[in-house]
Amino acid sequence: MNYGHSILTDIRLAGATPVVAGRDKSCTAYDLQDALADTRTACLLLVSSRLVQGNPVDLSEAVTLAHKRNLPAFIDGAAQDMRIPELLATGADLVLVSAQKYLASPTAGLIIGRRACVQACRAQEQGIGRAMKATKEAIIGVLAALDERQRLDITAWRAEQDRKVHWFVKQMSGVAGIKASEMPDPTGALFSRVHLRIEPVHRFPTASALAQALRSGNPSVWVGEHTAENSLILELVPLSREELHRVVERISELGRQSHQVGQTPATLHRE
Ligand SMILES: *Cc1c(COP(=O)(O)O)cnc(C)c1O
Repeated sequence: MNYGHSILTDIRLAGATPVVAGRDKSCTAYDLQDALADTRTACLLLVSSRLVQGNPVDLSEAVTLAHKRNLPAFIDGAAQDMRIPELLATGADLVLVSAQKYLASPTAGLIIGRRACVQACRAQEQGIGRAMKATKEAIIGVLAALDERQRLDITAWRAEQDRKVHWFVKQMSGVAGIKASEMPDPTGALFSRVHLRIEPVHRFPTASALAQALRSGNPSVWVGEHTAENSLILELVPLSREELHRVVERISELGRQSHQVGQTPATLHRE
């Protein structure tokens, strides 16, 4: 997990020494058992829609393995705030969630789980936690976000996200060189994303050039790049209707330019 720096840096910052179990594309129960051999270990499991190479680690099984050795198991599900009960049901001692992702509150984090483990985090008040403490404003913001979340009609919310994704994919159907499809979240989150594949046979530029063109437009549109597959993955959750229209217009416009010129459009050559 890398969000500008590796998560290993943050583990060290908290005073622990990271021991990585398994490899990039697999972590078996056997790998985990090896890594949990030391009695001073805690098991930290990561859940992210970006961590989906190879076989997924069965979270409940991993938690059970740690517990068999009397070690605590924590799940970093920073973006999984809609699945907290599900993650706690794995038996994890703590589930960590970011307050500023889908909860959309000011920057803070939530530590949820067994009382003794939550209390233990307070040791950091005399450690790195002092430098990182959430402001009073952030704490009130998190409470307001949780309150709002509790009142949210999840079924209606999901239907709205589905409508946005369907609509977007439909709008893309006329754009030459792009094949759009709906992409369910690989970790089981409650919404899909739009997957734009750049057709190799067409004259449309690469996904990376398209991303760059979107960034250099006005308004500037920033999209995640997955250039290995020459595709872009768009997450529409926070976008308003008007923003969605603008993004669709911009992509369609770039598509038309690329088609007319028969080559990379001029706006793609900014740098
Ligand atoms: C986003 C993310 C983080 C970082 O969370 P912040 O609240 O922004 O510090 C850590 N771990 C995972 C798995 C994430 O997805």
